[in-house]
Amino acid sequence: MYTKGNKTNGLTPVTSEWMKQIMSDKSLVENLISIYGSPVNLHHLTTFSANIKKFKELFKQYDLKHQIYYARKANKSKSLVQHALNNGIGVDTASFRELEQSLALGGTGKTLVLTSAIKTREQYALAIKKQVPIILDNIDECELANAIALEVGETAVIGFRVSGFEVDNKKLYSRFGFDIESLKQFIFENIGGQLKYKHLNIKGLHFHLDGYSTLERGKALSDCITIVSELNEGGFGLEFIDIGGGILINYLEKEQEWINFDSQLREQVASGKGNLTFNQNGLGYELINGNVERSLKTYPYYNKVNGVDFLKGVLEYKASEESLPNFSKLQSGNIELRIEPGRSLLNQVGMTVAKVAHRKQDARGQWLVGLEMNMSQMMSSSEDFLLDPYFIYEDDSSDKSAVDVFFTGAYCLERDLLLKRKITLPQLPKIGDLVAFVNTAGYMMHFFETEAHLFELSANLSFESSEKLSASDFVNDDNL
Ligand SMILES: *Cc1c(COP(=O)(O)O)cnc(C)c1O
Repeated sequence: MYTKGNKTNGLTPVTSEWMKQIMSDKSLVENLISIYGSPVNLHHLTTFSANIKKFKELFKQYDLKHQIYYARKANKSKSLVQHALNNGIGVDTASFRELEQSLALGGTGKTLVLTSAIKTREQYALAIKKQVPIILDNIDECELANAIALEVGETAVIGFRVSGFEVDNKKLYSRFGFDIESLKQFIFENIGGQLKYKHLNIKGLHFHLDGYSTLERGKALSDCITIVSELNEGGFGLEFIDIGGGILINYLEKEQEWINFDSQLREQVASGKGNLTFNQNGLGYELINGNVERSLKTYPYYNKVNGVDFLKGVLEYKASEESLPNFSKLQSGNIELRIEPGRSLLNQVGMTVAKVAHRKQDARGQWLVGLEMNMSQMMSSSEDFLLDPYFIYEDDSSDKSAVDVFFTGAYCLERDLLLKRKITLPQLPKIGDLVAFVNTAGYMMHFFETEAHLFELSANLSFESSEKLSASDFVNDDNL
């Protein structure tokens, strides 16, 4: 059987039926772990397809020319790239290997885009040969793309990354992109025709903003529409605006739990008492001159407005009372809207399961439960993964006293705690019991995974819905 940690006072994750189906089948998971090792990452392709469909339907509803590029950096599995292409969407690539592999899996110049932060000669050459649009960030990149296009004997299809949008009288800073104030002039003076960069064929504009503001994205899109119109009036033929990713998702079932957790955490920081988190980690909050200052350094796990509704906010944005909303301007300008969702396409797609290796009581009397996995196998830029894990165990009537535990990992670091939050379980786990972390497909599995101690990287398995699952229904990504 299985149960969620923290029966009361928890952070209850939104948990799909497929996850429950797997967790109720302990022998299936044991079987998978005995074949593939611990931890094992499971990917439900049926949910991935459903997420794609929701975005497609939104664009249809707004009658927009569009393309969706799955940002594969959020999860390295080939199965998802393949599935994205099979579902008629594209893939956003950000390195040579991401590009090369996506081409090998069936991607083309029509379905891929290259948005790498650092671009090598090999990346330009491959992208240009395959006519994959390259999103350029600066003048050095224009030089190199132009030179390599000449060598390859093809024009390079490009878009420009734009930054420096002004929102509420404040300029948004970014290390990426061309500043919006000088971009238009730069393009008129340098791109195409017989100008300096004659081998660059500009097809669109691109931005990807830090943070999760629909207002900022709405304003940025509106500004880009204006520039595209002006460039096209001046003889260019820009076809798309790509607004990147960063579409919020919601991880938690109850807003109240999120609010409660935040106030309990602040209370712990203020009082210096409690064991909500390991060593009273403030997860970003600090006590400064007697006050709780700074902020929670985690993903905002609860979001009322998320997914397609988040995107609606960007599409409905109006630059002023009198002006038309973004979606109308895109329609009348015949501009294709592109998005590059990573995390939001992976919502509810993945789960990570690990095996209990040992239990011990530390000198403070706290129970530490060692799992056969390490901190890098469930790590993001967030200070903690604030979802209650599930405990999969044999129902054992002998000893049933609830116990508070911290899950510890395999790296030789004091800080290898898989979750910083204390988890209350109905009984002390036994060696060989299982712990499942849900909704880990977006960034949690691979983004920071390392091979310290020569640990094997975790196996990535994909599967589709079926009433009865057995180990043979799961495809190992290494075999694709
Ligand atoms: C990271 C990134 C994305 C994906 O962002 P999500 O938050 O996962 O949706 C898309 N485009 C660019 C350029 C990125 O850097």
